[in-house]
Amino acid sequence: MAKIKELRCPLCDRAYAPDAVQYTCPACGEVGTLDVLYDYEALKTTVDRAAVAEGPNSMWRYKSLLPLESGSAVPPLRVGWTPFYDAPRVAAELGVARVWLKDDGQNPTGSFKDRASAMVVARAMELGIETISTASTGNAAAALAGVCASVGKTPIIFVPASAPEAKIAQLLVYGATVLLVNGTYDQAFDLCTQMCLAEGWYCRNTAMNPFTTEGKKTSAFEIAEQLGWNVPDVVVVSVGDGNIIAGVYKGFYDLFQLGWIDRIPRLIGVQAAGSAALYHAWKDGIRAEDMQPIDAQTLADSISAGLPRDRAKGLRAVRQTQGAYVSVTDEAILAAIPRLAQLSGVFAEPACAAAFAGAAQARREGHILPTESVALLLTGNGLKDIRRAQQSVGAGLLVEPTLESVKSALTRR
Ligand SMILES: [Zn+2]
Repeated sequence: MAKIKELRCPLCDRAYAPDAVQYTCPACGEVGTLDVLYDYEALKTTVDRAAVAEGPNSMWRYKSLLPLESGSAVPPLRVGWTPFYDAPRVAAELGVARVWLKDDGQNPTGSFKDRASAMVVARAMELGIETISTASTGNAAAALAGVCASVGKTPIIFVPASAPEAKIAQLLVYGATVLLVNGTYDQAFDLCTQMCLAEGWYCRNTAMNPFTTEGKKTSAFEIAEQLGWNVPDVVVVSVGDGNIIAGVYKGFYDLFQLGWIDRIPRLIGVQAAGSAALYHAWKDGIRAEDMQPIDAQTLADSISAGLPRDRAKGLRAVRQTQGAYVSVTDEAILAAIPRLAQLSGVFAEPACAAAFAGAAQARREGHILPTESVALLLTGNGLKDIRRAQQSVGAGLLVEPTLESVKSALTRR
């Protein structure tokens, strides 16, 4: 593919020809998650911002900046180009100048992960591979299953048996082969990797496949385009494996290389306190290659990761942009679900609400100033995990079918 210059390892800086390596850096092993780098000087002459605006209302409006041939087919589902809401009441609550909400819960399967899955499936279509497999805490799997169903590919999914019911139901409805692993996400990930390598299935595993970041970077493209090719001061992203924040960084990096934006915003990563490996590594100055697995425990299942798979790029995204990591408790995450919903109308699953809780934490710690503008990346629909949503609010008012009972309940409210 002429526009891709190389695949480069963020740890050892080795560069590989685009077709020489399929997954991670052979020298560094699985911690060496590769960047897909383009010939930016050539792209400057062939791609322009005005042409992007003419494209479809989906992530494929940026096809010329994605690792696909121009004539290649893409899945038909409308992934990306999600709403970007101005949210003045959220801004007032956080005590900042401006807040925008990037509502990726409105993707076809209800989460941000559709971006990565659509990209990987498009790539599998180019390669002519029929079976695609992934391990997931739930959302990436639902995304892969849904996108595969849209084009008739075969998905094989490894999820922890503890994943929320709605996410497992979604997989089965889309017709995926679902392996419920009686273990952690990290164990499911390793099983999936081994089976892909043994069976020749295309592996969508987050960060291991360099194309996941390329799909996720389209969220940064959209934020910039939806602001008239400007950027906010800060973008807040909840973080498990680190691949979404790496993707957001990569999107802004590409645009900066092309001269389409004049700076890269500070990126703030939010981790759940019980699954905060990247937060601690950032705080203590630990290198990605020296990080050790922890026993991850959080109700925000989508950001539960004992050893974050994209730790190298997840740390770099924050360090390179002079951003920060913050950690928030499960209690703060639960409280953020109704608070965000009531201030904005956006219903978030726990990992998604964590971005709002984390923005408040970052504000308290001085990582965001009152004069600044902030975009919150909202990664998953609240309907994905009804049990936690119910846990975050009280019960409704039970009434008899009489006006008297209704009026009485309303006065007791
Ligand atoms: Zn390397």
